[in-house]
Amino acid sequence: MSTLPTEKGHTASPSSSLSRILHRVPKAVVVVLLFSLVLVLTVGILAMLPETPRVPVAAVVVIDAGHGAHDPGAIVAGVQEKDVNLSLSLRIQSKAESLTNIQVILTRTTDTYPSLLERLALAEAVGARLYVSIHANYYSDSRICGVETWIDSNAGAESLRLAREVQRALVAATGAADRGVQRQTLYLRHTSLPTALVEVGYLSCPVERTKLLDPAYQERIAAGILAGILSFLDR
Ligand SMILES: [Zn+2]
Repeated sequence: MSTLPTEKGHTASPSSSLSRILHRVPKAVVVVLLFSLVLVLTVGILAMLPETPRVPVAAVVVIDAGHGAHDPGAIVAGVQEKDVNLSLSLRIQSKAESLTNIQVILTRTTDTYPSLLERLALAEAVGARLYVSIHANYYSDSRICGVETWIDSNAGAESLRLAREVQRALVAATGAADRGVQRQTLYLRHTSLPTALVEVGYLSCPVERTKLLDPAYQERIAAGILAGILSFLDR
């Protein structure tokens, strides 16, 4: 059975009257009208939605527990620096868990030894905003006590600012002697990230060694370092 060919767009369906109207209107006008309708509906729907709270993007921060495994760092009176460094790093991560604007990633969470370049590579791989290495100090003169923060001798302005913020906050949190920010040649030069190495106290200083083993004092150190990092990120 043959049917008569109809003009394109014309059928005998119930919508034929609408089609006839649309056919008389120039196509460009139809497109503009439909586009306007979609736009109005979209704006209307968006206006009805509840305002979504603005969640700041969490800054990824890498904390490095210095030494590990076969490399104990300083050993004084049976205390191994690597263990103090790890305990402090875990405390910093734990403290940051309740904060939404910062995510702490550790280079090691147990007694392992990632190489120094592996530690920096991790920080770069996770898109870290900064890198802070945690250490405890040693000196042959047991009268030397206090906190110092190191940056590489070629470190830029951001590393210096990071080191100053961490040093200031750590001294404020612990009441330890302020031995300032110091420069020397460090492996930290192998990254362009803001980096600092914190010496939280001297294991060779008997009074400080006792404090460094005290969980309450470790909490103050962790809070101080975290506060310094947050101050750095705040600007
Ligand atoms: Zn060390």
